[in-house]
Amino acid sequence: MNIRKALLVKPGAKVKLSDYDPDDTLGHKKGEHTDAKTDKACGRLDSLQYLLYAEKKHALLAIFQALDAGGKDGTIRHVMSGINPQGCVVASFKQPSPEEMAHDFLWRVHKVVPPLGIVGVFNRSHYEDVLVVRVHNLVPKEIWSARYDQINSFEQTLSANGVTVVKFFLHISKEEQKKRFIERIDDPDRRWKISQSDFMERKFWDDYIKAYEEVLRRCSTQEAPWYVIPANKKWFRNFAVSRILVETLEDLKMKYPKPTVDVKDLKWK
Ligand code: AMP
Ligand code: MG
Repeated sequence: MNIRKALLVKPGAKVKLSDYDPDDTLGHKKGEHTDAKTDKACGRLDSLQYLLYAEKKHALLAIFQALDAGGKDGTIRHVMSGINPQGCVVASFKQPSPEEMAHDFLWRVHKVVPPLGIVGVFNRSHYEDVLVVRVHNLVPKEIWSARYDQINSFEQTLSANGVTVVKFFLHISKEEQKKRFIERIDDPDRRWKISQSDFMERKFWDDYIKAYEEVLRRCSTQEAPWYVIPANKKWFRNFAVSRILVETLEDLKMKYPKPTVDVKDLKWK
């Protein structure tokens, strides 16, 4: 089965993440063959980004969400590695600043949506406002529970104005998270990445899963679909994400603009 179809969350579908195996590889095997396909997809992504830039009728916004150590940074680094940096913007969303807190939750997000011709990547996103915010009761329930509809209409607005939105939940198991934390502790070059909050947040694992399930059920739409990426195996995660991005861009049926001059009439000195 096509990877994109298999990993898509069908709009309105009830999602139980325990039914999704984070080790799944959809029958694909680790090795040269799959690595070559991933490399090919990353190369194709570069050509498609160039076409997107030339045509300037669309933008692509790829949103990455995951629990801590889920692989957002690694996926972004790997999948976007071939893309021309001039055609790409990456935004990371941390705890909101006082200025951001004084605005509505979409204010800081809308500002960094990519313009036509550009690929935008979000490392975390407005979904934090129904994830961490919900898990820790950072705002009252009536405020966060209204945000699902607000997010859907925001994303519909983007889509209607040329921004293709695609959302990835990198799904790892609790065991895999522990393994990755331990690897970070053991690796002097990566120890800096660990924070006390990672360990504290692990206690809220089940609450996060519940919050993600609601996001996936309520916010996977035709215009802005969610994909659940089995992400315990990094090679499969990179393969799946790169393929889905390529197919999403290919669906846009982009074309290079006609030259503005007739090349036959060009005069050379
Ligand atoms: P990291 O991505 O590891 O650098 O961590 C960024 C932190 O910012 C995470 O703990 C997020 O949960 C937190 N964060 C991001 N957006 C929000 C938000 N809207 N409200 C509260 N915390 C947030
Ligand atoms: Mg972190």
